[in-house]
Amino acid sequence: MAGIDPGICNFATVSYGDEAVLYPGGALKEDEYYFAKKRAETDDSASREARRLDRKRTDRRTHFLHTLSKEIVAECVKRGVGTIVVGDLGGIREDENGDARNWGHHGNLDLHGWAFDRFTQMLLYKAEVEGVEVVTKSEQGTSKTCSACGRSDKRQRVYRGLYVCECGFVGNADCNGAENIRRKVLPNLATDGGRDRDNGWLAQPAVRLFDRSEGRFAPREQVIQTDREP
Ligand SMILES: [Zn+2]
Repeated sequence: MAGIDPGICNFATVSYGDEAVLYPGGALKEDEYYFAKKRAETDDSASREARRLDRKRTDRRTHFLHTLSKEIVAECVKRGVGTIVVGDLGGIREDENGDARNWGHHGNLDLHGWAFDRFTQMLLYKAEVEGVEVVTKSEQGTSKTCSACGRSDKRQRVYRGLYVCECGFVGNADCNGAENIRRKVLPNLATDGGRDRDNGWLAQPAVRLFDRSEGRFAPREQVIQTDREP
C-alpha cells in the first residue's frame, strides 16, 4: 500500500509505510516561468512562434507527468504494492479542462490542480496495466492529523516544512500527509500497532529530482542542473 500526497512545492510525496519519497515540482515551475517569459517576448500571440512555444510547454509538462507516473508505478511494482491511494485536491481547482490559456491568470494553484489531475489519470492507466489498484481519497484533514498518534487538534504545528506534534513526533509535513492518505484505506493498521512503529523515516524522505537530460527521476546528488534552454 502506498499513499500519494499532492503538493505545491513537492509535486508528489509518496509514503510506502516504511519509506517516503519526495518529488519536487521545481522543473514544472521553472518551465512555467521560462515559457511565460518567452511568450511575453513574442509580439503576436497568434504567431507561429507563439504556437510553437505553447506546444513545447505542453510537451514538457506532459513529459514530466508521464515520467513521474511511470517512475511511481515501477517503484510500486518493485515493492509489491497492490494499492495506491491518491489524495484528491477537491475544491482547490475550478477548471478541469486544463485550458493552457487560462494558466497565467489563475496562478500556481490551477497549474498544480490541472497537472495533478493529469498525473492521476496517467497513474491510473499505467497502474492498471501492471495490476495495481489506484484509489482516490479526499485529502481533507490529512495535513493536520498526526500520523504517529492520530491526533488532530491544536497540539500540532507545521514549522518550515516540519510537522511537530506534542506526542513527540517530528516529521516532514508532506510525508506526514502522504502517510495519512495511505492509512485512509488501512482501517485496521491503526490499531494493530501501526502507529507505534518507528516512524523516523517520515523525517528522512528520499528526494528524487527530474533529470531533463536523461528524461528520468534520479536522486538529488545525481542530477546535474543544466542550461534551461529548450
Ligand atoms: Zn502525535
